[in-house]
Amino acid sequence: MKSVRVKICKLCKQMFWHNKKIKPGKVMDFDVVVEEVVCKDCEPKPFRALVQLRGFSEPVFGDFKNSLKLWKKVKGGFDLQFSTARSSNAYYKWLKKKMPDLKVKRTRSHVSTKGGEKIYRPTICFRKI
Ligand SMILES: [Zn+2]
Repeated sequence: MKSVRVKICKLCKQMFWHNKKIKPGKVMDFDVVVEEVVCKDCEPKPFRALVQLRGFSEPVFGDFKNSLKLWKKVKGGFDLQFSTARSSNAYYKWLKKKMPDLKVKRTRSHVSTKGGEKIYRPTICFRKI
């Protein structure tokens, strides 16, 4: 019997054959080898670290605008998305020095699980008191 290798996303259960989405049942005549993956739709969003500015009327960038993936105005302030955790850390140190009165909270949010390993996105929240 011919053997077919299909991939199944362990998060959304979508099946793939040659990277195309397929419906279960289509390859029933074959010996199916199923490989568990995480599909592109379920992969973590392509930014690595989030900085939240709360109580700000204007976003503060300093020299870090090039390290940003994007930024947006949100309720209560601004969200800055950095492409690397390293650049968000540099920004964190810089802003803490520049505005020492800010209240800072560092957390990390669980964004997905890849190969049994949990993936976290570091989040830094600066709040004006
Ligand atoms: Zn998926």
